[in-house]
Amino acid sequence: MVRMETFKGIAVSPGLAIGQVFVLDDVRTRIPRRSIPLNAIEHEKHRFADALSGAKGELIELSAQAAERLGSESAKIFDFHQLMLRDRSLTLPIEGRIERDRVTAEYAVQEQFRTLADMFRGMDNETFRTKVDDVWDLERRLLKHLIGEHRSALDRLDRPAIVIARDLTPTQTASFQGKPVKGFATDLGGLTSHTAIFARALQIPAVVGLDGFSDIAEDGDPVILDGERGVLILRPDEHTLESYREAIEIARRVAVSLASLAELPAQTTDGTRVLLMGNIEFADEMQVVIDQGGDGVGLFRTEFLWLTSDHEPTEEEQYQHYTRCLSLSRGREVTFRTFDLGADKYTQERAEDPERNPFLGCRSIRYCLQNVPMFKRQLRAILRASAHGRSRIMFPLITDDLELRQARIICKDVMEDLEEEGIPFDASVPIGIMVETPAAALMAGSYAGEVSFFSIGTNDLIQYTLAVDRTNEKVQNLYSAAHPAVLKLVKDVIRAGRRHNIPVSLCGEVAGDTHYTLLLMGLGLRTLSVTPSRLPFLKRIVRSVDIQTCERLARTACSFESERQVTAYLRDQARKIIPEAFDGRSVEAGPGTR
Ligand code: PEP
Ligand code: MG
Repeated sequence: MVRMETFKGIAVSPGLAIGQVFVLDDVRTRIPRRSIPLNAIEHEKHRFADALSGAKGELIELSAQAAERLGSESAKIFDFHQLMLRDRSLTLPIEGRIERDRVTAEYAVQEQFRTLADMFRGMDNETFRTKVDDVWDLERRLLKHLIGEHRSALDRLDRPAIVIARDLTPTQTASFQGKPVKGFATDLGGLTSHTAIFARALQIPAVVGLDGFSDIAEDGDPVILDGERGVLILRPDEHTLESYREAIEIARRVAVSLASLAELPAQTTDGTRVLLMGNIEFADEMQVVIDQGGDGVGLFRTEFLWLTSDHEPTEEEQYQHYTRCLSLSRGREVTFRTFDLGADKYTQERAEDPERNPFLGCRSIRYCLQNVPMFKRQLRAILRASAHGRSRIMFPLITDDLELRQARIICKDVMEDLEEEGIPFDASVPIGIMVETPAAALMAGSYAGEVSFFSIGTNDLIQYTLAVDRTNEKVQNLYSAAHPAVLKLVKDVIRAGRRHNIPVSLCGEVAGDTHYTLLLMGLGLRTLSVTPSRLPFLKRIVRSVDIQTCERLARTACSFESERQVTAYLRDQARKIIPEAFDGRSVEAGPGTR
């Protein structure tokens, strides 16, 4: 019997799951060596033969297209690739590896192409050396056929499983919807990456930053995924399994007791009302927000409609989607954030051509302002939908007053077009911005006169203030909302909002972390927008404190000069002031807690 092993990563989505491993390999990453049984050799050789003929078929087509559009010279490259694939001195060793080493077809392909690339690279002749790129190109083409097949196995996944991958894009994570995925774990990733955010929306546990784990896990291995402590236990023994079964039962009972709060308002013991809103990615999640006792949607990440599609959603598709959300909202307010694409949210088309430093690149409002017709299509869809329910429009990543002005002018143009066409919309729809760059936070006083509301996006604000990539597991220990610099910016934005009499909310992940709730309320925030599954936990806290206690706590927290002091103080105070909120395993975890 192989022994139980425990791995520690970063907990990014709470919950516990017991299940079997399903490894999702990625075409862009190194394929781990996986042994296959003797009777699977023929199957693997067939898979290789199928991939070979699929790739050859593609190359014939590409060659014909290139000849037609670009001339016969350009077509030669694909003819050369075809020749290589026909060369038995390339294909025979691959079959040999499958047979002799008993490895998967994709591993054999990878290893043989590496050998070939090394050979070309070592040649004296410059012409041969330049062939290395062709080798990688062909390798990718073959792997796409082989691993594409494995990926589509996810579609056929008919038994509950825990997905293990080196990394997952938000789009891949979104494709888990409706599949029996009980949770996932990845080698890479950070707390506020959009993949992690999506896991919370799906309400499945997730652990990231498990350096190298995907190379060790094998399909079908029994595993426990602990999204509370960021732990993954491979091949657990019976005693461990039993204690996790018990913990799952306790968490279920806590959830039932919290559900009774859904109908009650989020109001402090001294009568201060706090609006608890949901962050959603898809229209249907509006129902989850209502079921969890939310007051509306503070952040609709509209870009997910596009990320889960192979084309830009048409104006009509968007309009239907947004209208559906508003009709489900039954009078609650919905804040539509315009497309926040780029950084770790590339559309399939843009993924082909990544930027060097995408978090500092053409993302978000910058991308929209460079693609005005696309931006206008979205604004038309949102505005048309605004005729059907309480809507707000929010621009992300505003860094400069010119961006805000341009976005507003484009929005005004779209309103005029709709008016001329006699299409109904809410002409007084509030227009606001996300404050998620230090520039916007520092200039909040000046922007406040031009917008109807602010929403503080701490996920990005933290990464840009502290220069810490929110998706990089190697620097997650440096990523913290408790850094005094971050607190100072948040405080300044709240103050600017108050001075100009515009509402300020906070929709970063820290809003869902119960260690921060008292601080955020004490700083003056009266609207928090969080992953819907966190709503009951927050409501329980809001209903058990008075606002003076929160203000006292905020004053002390803001007097510290180091992140460590603030973190220790918040933990200590949360347990002292609201011990009942930290008495169950699943209650304690919060997405912003280090
Ligand atoms: C944020 O940056 O805090 C935010 C809420 O937006 P997103 O996580 O989608 O970047
Ligand atoms: Mg953001």
